[in-house]
Amino acid sequence: MNRSETGGFNKNLSNSLLLMILTIAGILLFPAFSEAARRQQKSDNSEPVLRVKMGGNHTKFSVKFPDGGWLENSRGRKIKTFRKNEVFSWELPASGKNRSRTQYRGETIALHGNNSLVQLDKNLYRGYLQAVISDKGARIINHVGIESYLRGVVGSEIGSMSPVESLRAQTVIARTYAYASRGKHGSEGADVCDSTHCQVYSGVKAERAAIDPAVKATRGIIMISDGEPIATLYHASCGGMTSDNDKVFGGAPRSYLRRVICPFCKDGHNYRWTRSIKPAELTNALRREKIVFSKLYDAEIDAPANMDRVTSIILHTDTGTHKVRGTTFRRLFNLPSTTFLLGNRSRAREVIAAAAPVKTPVNSQLMQHTTLRIAALVDDAGDGPNQLMILTESGLKRTLRPAEGWQTIGLRLASREEAESSSSTLPSATAATKGQVQANRDTLNELQLFGRGYGHQVGLCQAGTIEMGKRNWSYRQILAFYYSNVALRSLDY
Ligand SMILES: [Zn+2]
Ligand SMILES: [Zn+2]
Repeated sequence: MNRSETGGFNKNLSNSLLLMILTIAGILLFPAFSEAARRQQKSDNSEPVLRVKMGGNHTKFSVKFPDGGWLENSRGRKIKTFRKNEVFSWELPASGKNRSRTQYRGETIALHGNNSLVQLDKNLYRGYLQAVISDKGARIINHVGIESYLRGVVGSEIGSMSPVESLRAQTVIARTYAYASRGKHGSEGADVCDSTHCQVYSGVKAERAAIDPAVKATRGIIMISDGEPIATLYHASCGGMTSDNDKVFGGAPRSYLRRVICPFCKDGHNYRWTRSIKPAELTNALRREKIVFSKLYDAEIDAPANMDRVTSIILHTDTGTHKVRGTTFRRLFNLPSTTFLLGNRSRAREVIAAAAPVKTPVNSQLMQHTTLRIAALVDDAGDGPNQLMILTESGLKRTLRPAEGWQTIGLRLASREEAESSSSTLPSATAATKGQVQANRDTLNELQLFGRGYGHQVGLCQAGTIEMGKRNWSYRQILAFYYSNVALRSLDY
């Protein structure tokens, strides 16, 4: 089945077009570098050093020196040297009594490798390692130049087979993130950690021949807005439109994280997805959230002003109405995103309904189909839903409420024959819009989800970025497309 969305001719779309035009204007006005930043940075040419916390508390560790190296104590005095491939091992004494004899207890030692190469346990890193040692264990911090750090990060964030300009865009994102994250783990004497909490950093083993040139070509370049490095959010696929940051995460709107229509991720993974949830799967999963019922009569989504981004799912059941947060639903059923519409509804909803009948037929395009079925009603209000998802012979169509209101058409659509012959037997339109429950309550035999995109959908869309790279957009144009009102700044080192 081809599940395409019809845009419709509506206010939302013209807003989006305006946004797109403004974005393109933004690309043309995109300043290369801030002159002030250039002047300010002139005096200092050293690359910023990032302190990366390596794992949690270590009760033992070993450091190998591929090209030899040395150990410095807390006062910076060289107290030990290592030959090529020599190994330094440290272990916390097993019993509490012996902890007072912990080697280097209370000290912060530095382990330097020649050529700035040190191997911690199995992985090789650039820069040097610092170990803060107490009688509870060791905290290990890799001090590494930000550019070397990026070589060990970008490959984990985007596939190294991606086009050159896409890799450059992702590199600027990772650098901006790292630069803005300085001090994030300050209480632990570090800037960032090496896990997904910050950015996954695996050192030399994550370096790729294709990524190093992207790091070099964008050396020192970060994105700023109002003079500050921006929060560089990105996700795998937006499914056609990114979201405003405040609509997804709450909090204050950020001028550079605004909704953008993205026509580029169409051919990528999860542009559209479907998921069918059986009642047993639903009740089992929800029981873990302490929501208990045995019969599901109907389901609807609550997506206020966010188009199809689901804030919560409302379930009408034999134990009453339950509300489940969209993010909870995503986690429980491992959904690609919280942006979806519900398919099958109870039979009472299988009508096209409107409170304000008009004379001229709207959506005549849809009426050419002989089989129509409402897939979802979104944002029920006094004058009917704002949009309808309609299952037609040629796939799923989205249609938005025309300015003059919906035309009242009644169709019971159990079969094509019935649709053709029974246009006269109509349930009441108002009953349908308000979702009144019939005396004879049907239960849903599955919950059908029609979704788009993968991830939180704020900021840059990676699938789109890869496609734009293939179409020879520059990384500056790609970044300007997804982040509004930002400038590139060179840190000049
Ligand atoms: Zn972290
Ligand atoms: Zn996209």
